[in-house]
Amino acid sequence: MKKILSAALVLVIIAGIIACASSPKTQQESADVVIIGAGGAGLAAAMSAQQNGAKVIVLEKLERAGGNTVISGAAYNSADPARQANVPMNDANRRDIQTLTTKAPHDAFEREMQQAVIQQVAAFKGSGLFDSPEWHAIQTYNGGDYVAKPEMVRTFTQNTLATLEWLKTNGMQWQRDQDVMFTVLGALWPRSHRPQMPLGQGYIATTLGFAEAHKGDITIHYNTKATELIMQNGRVTGVKATGPNGNFTFSANKGVIIATGGFGANVELREKYNTLPQDKGGWPSLVNAKTTNHPGATGDGLTLAEKAGASLIGLEWLQLLPMGDPRTGSLSGNIEQGVEDRFFVNKNGERFVNEGGRRDDMTKALLQQPDAWLWVICDKQSYPTPQTKNNFNESIEDLIKAGRAYEGNTIEELAAKIGVPAANLRSATDEFNAGVDAGRDKWGRTLWRIKINQPPYYAGARIPTVHHTMGGIEINPETQVLNKSGQVIPGLYAAGEVTGGIHGSNRLGGNALADAHTFGRIAGANAAAGR
Ligand code: ADP
Repeated sequence: MKKILSAALVLVIIAGIIACASSPKTQQESADVVIIGAGGAGLAAAMSAQQNGAKVIVLEKLERAGGNTVISGAAYNSADPARQANVPMNDANRRDIQTLTTKAPHDAFEREMQQAVIQQVAAFKGSGLFDSPEWHAIQTYNGGDYVAKPEMVRTFTQNTLATLEWLKTNGMQWQRDQDVMFTVLGALWPRSHRPQMPLGQGYIATTLGFAEAHKGDITIHYNTKATELIMQNGRVTGVKATGPNGNFTFSANKGVIIATGGFGANVELREKYNTLPQDKGGWPSLVNAKTTNHPGATGDGLTLAEKAGASLIGLEWLQLLPMGDPRTGSLSGNIEQGVEDRFFVNKNGERFVNEGGRRDDMTKALLQQPDAWLWVICDKQSYPTPQTKNNFNESIEDLIKAGRAYEGNTIEELAAKIGVPAANLRSATDEFNAGVDAGRDKWGRTLWRIKINQPPYYAGARIPTVHHTMGGIEINPETQVLNKSGQVIPGLYAAGEVTGGIHGSNRLGGNALADAHTFGRIAGANAAAGR
């Protein structure tokens, strides 16, 4: 009997061991700061939090870091007088400043920025391009139709340069000479910085490299998806997540940072929020629209934050670019090197928009063109050799071989290759070149640099594509998440594309990575301090 009992006991113990091994276990870990998302903002926050003395856990739902940041065109906007000293300023640039500093101000913030810029311009003795955080703020605020929160715009533009230098101090390399301070699509001013590494790899190499070099302080859990925030007495104290081997509970002694990016890849959500009439900033149905986004850009952070009582703002503002690859919608394959160095024509070979304007205006104009299709036209000045690469690490020779770009020794030859009427492409080119001389044209273009007159000429096709979601979690300039009454939710911070209120109705090109890293850095420092 005794023997039978002990055999039964052994069986029960073995069964228990097997059950434990096969059933998902809830693992518990804790750190000072728990960050959700290992993209631009999340990894910047991790680096900053560690440097401010915190032990950090980062949760990334995919098997790799980088998010939209690593596949971006990498442009980073900041007023940067030292690096802009070599960029020439022309009359069209001066008129731009004049126009926006003398218009009736929208509010006290714009008035304050205008007065500052007027004084700065009067005192400006530099030979190069004028710029300042206040001028950047005016363009950001006006370029987003005054929908952004003034205090967020102020904090953003005043901290971009310090953040750029911070990244540099931590090993990120930037290209420095005049040719590489440029205007990215929709940036409205030549204040875009280009990293040495292609795409957004420089950002992630720097911040992820830092995390890997500080493994004792920063732990990254891949394939680990945050599913819920843990709240105790109104304070966010941790995160529930599902990982490869079961469920997790991560407690945060000091703070949780949501850095999950936007929702451009979530068709359902973008339909839900694409509610505005088309003449008020809405878009036609985006169900079948392509996107530049990585598959993880599904807006998870919005649900997490909303359940914790956060205020979500501006979700109806969705950004489309006129610059998607016709097959995939991705940014890759784009042959433009900068706004000043190219123009657009439609399938008839006609210009149709100010190619230096806002992204929403350009995309709306593109949607009116035959097949919503444009050709970027540039010349040898953009590609001095066949091996010269675009912003996406693709050489023009490879793009041509792949049938993604076309080359002609004359404008007429190029027209024949892309199937547009040669006379039209010729007159579009002449019109553009006359605009370079005059510094203006009938489309209202103000960004000019070079004539397109050096063979060979190049063309690349582009279509509208969903790119960025301007709305999201409402934060204050300290990146603390606000509830629906405007009060701070203790212990909760957010940064990057998941937040709203920084860009308004239309984000300037080059402002996103600057936003993600600037506010990621602030979030990391504040969460580490447990403010
Ligand atoms: P940002 O530019 O705002 O930093 P990114 O797109 O670069 O945005 O990065 C966001 C990251 O967050 C991506 O790597 C994405 O996979 C990750 N992410 C999104 N949702 C979750 C989630 N629920 N849990 C963990 N990681 C997430």
